[in-house]
Amino acid sequence: MLPDDRVYAYSAVLMGSPILLKLFAHNESLASRVFRLIKQQENILTVNRPHSDIMAINLAAGSHAVAVSQPVFTLIQRAKAVSLLPDSAFNFTIGPLVKRWKIGFSGNSVPPASDLQALLSLTDPRQVILDEQAQSVFLQQAGMEIDLGAIAKGYIADVVRDFLRQEGVEQALINLGGNVQTLGASHTNQENATPSGWAIGLKTPFAAADALIGVIHVVNKSVVTSGVYERYFQHQGRCYHHILDPRTGYPLDNELHSVTVICDDSIDGDIYTTLLYGMGVEQGLAHLANVPQIEAIFVTRDRQVICSSQRQFAFELLDDRYRLK
Ligand code: FAD
Ligand code: MG
Ligand code: MG
Repeated sequence: MLPDDRVYAYSAVLMGSPILLKLFAHNESLASRVFRLIKQQENILTVNRPHSDIMAINLAAGSHAVAVSQPVFTLIQRAKAVSLLPDSAFNFTIGPLVKRWKIGFSGNSVPPASDLQALLSLTDPRQVILDEQAQSVFLQQAGMEIDLGAIAKGYIADVVRDFLRQEGVEQALINLGGNVQTLGASHTNQENATPSGWAIGLKTPFAAADALIGVIHVVNKSVVTSGVYERYFQHQGRCYHHILDPRTGYPLDNELHSVTVICDDSIDGDIYTTLLYGMGVEQGLAHLANVPQIEAIFVTRDRQVICSSQRQFAFELLDDRYRLK
């Protein structure tokens, strides 16, 4: 078994998130290429700066279509398809509401209900017109805005994994702040050659940053967590978090504190955390019974931890204030 001191960790802050890369060889130049790659993707997909491919589409809303690169077009196609699923809580045209609430950014406040109602009329995914031939995107109404915040980190985590694979890296972990993607195992037990998974800690909601509710071990899997405790503000005793309900315009309100998804591709994990958040525990478990490649860990407000199944990981509870069901 390789001792932990064989792991080299590199960190950066990109996309407003702490980024961590773990490698099994000291390779400063590879780490900087990974961070450069993330930065490039951020420059294309961000809506937090005046210029990006997505901002070009948003600024042309109600006016004209904007052509984008093939990977961005494919990403937008996927985001639209998921947004149009029946009863989907995922809506990639949620931008005007995200900008109005500013949750996780300075200047946040609870908007008047009438403002939210007006902005909801700008969040219809069917009004995003995709032209496959021209690879262009057109937002039909002025004021519409695409926001890929619920899918882009997952997409980028997979881009980084594929890049590392091409570079011949067999073991690595990349954490884009809640979106973890892993390559291979963290080490091999030399005696029986069993791969031993990467240990991924799951945070205890609303606790100290290093407090863990539990830990899972995964090999070649993505682990994505979405929680109401990551970006929120409090107003008159109520907590307003960043996952908005596209039906009401307010933060999604149910029994959940967090959802973690374990699967192969981080883009699927990112999509599913949002979808499952909207479904809640009961409906989420029923849904996942038919999707064996996606597994989830739900953490509820009343301190229960519920795993849909544990085929790709084993959950170890570390916080005795919680009950594992
Ligand atoms: P998820 O639960 O996966 O997604 C929530 C995010 O998706 C929300 O923050 C919102 O952006 C959007 N969203 C909300 N409700 C819905 C919904 N119903 N359907 C679909 N989407 C929804 N943060 C900064 O502080 N500063 C930055 O400069 C910055 N730049 C970024 C650039 C890029 C390219 C990306 C991908 C993210 C950036 N972020 C930045 C973080 C971003 O604002 C979101 O907070 C982050 O993507 C949320 O990820 P998550 O996995 O925690 O949440
Ligand atoms: Mg996410
Ligand atoms: Mg998500």
